[in-house]
Amino acid sequence: MAALQLNRVPIDVMVTNRCNLHCRKCYAPKAGPEGTLAEFCNTLDKLFEAGIRRIVLTGGEPLVRDDVVEIARYASDLGFDVSLSTNSILLRRRWSAISPYLSWVGISLDSPTPKLNRVLVGNGARSHFESVLEFLRHRRDTRQARARVKLGTVVTRRNKDHLLELGRVIFREQPGYVPDAWRLYQYSASGHTSGDDSRDLEFAITERELEDVVDGATAAFPDVSVSYATAAERDEAYIFIRAGLDLAYPRQGAYVQLGDTRRMSAAEIRGVLCSFERVARRAIQNRRVYEVDAVPA
Ligand code: SF4
Repeated sequence: MAALQLNRVPIDVMVTNRCNLHCRKCYAPKAGPEGTLAEFCNTLDKLFEAGIRRIVLTGGEPLVRDDVVEIARYASDLGFDVSLSTNSILLRRRWSAISPYLSWVGISLDSPTPKLNRVLVGNGARSHFESVLEFLRHRRDTRQARARVKLGTVVTRRNKDHLLELGRVIFREQPGYVPDAWRLYQYSASGHTSGDDSRDLEFAITERELEDVVDGATAAFPDVSVSYATAAERDEAYIFIRAGLDLAYPRQGAYVQLGDTRRMSAAEIRGVLCSFERVARRAIQNRRVYEVDAVPA
């Protein structure tokens, strides 16, 4: 097997646990320790020295953090390929400041209507739905921005029969920028970690059901780059710098801790990543949608 190329390994940097939505499907904590700008920059220095070249800024909702643009700029200036994963509520407002540093922005929408979005997202559903369309209209008018757009959709029992309608709204009818890729994710049932499995009963679908949805979307939108990931494919397939600066990866609804990057050297980070090579390779596969441009050396 070829040697692990650390410059291809994406690191998801959770700049905050805070979020301006409370999606019903979400199990992520909304509070907890959060590193300072200086601490994040220091960890980015070490990641770069360790050979990492791709990061995804994520959360929680990364744009609720006031200095997220400074983090993106610092990472971009170091030489990272930087992507952003956001629910898009604040994206229109912060786009001109952050877009110069981004290769990709991943936005999330699971519903073709505000009404269904309310079932999935709860409070804030209408502004979330409208913020996605508003951003795509704005993105159409800012052609000089180089960042591509990925639409991410979590497929659940509640929306699986509405995804062709969502595709029509986003890729055919809305008069804005058409996303460059559509990635469909199987809902990850994680009720065993929270003791609340009612959401799993409401939302969970099988891999076969996901594949049927993907087949339908691919047939209906042959010009759209549609890809998907099952819950099993995403397990042990991210490497996170969590908001408290610890290095970790997800396994069956929990985090496996790999160390505190505030105390680790670049060599130690490199060593840990190489010793968890299987996870690193799965992360490359999982985030390959962002790997259109040449990987920085
Ligand atoms: S936007 Fe993301 S982090 Fe925030 S509640 Fe929804 S799924 Fe969770």
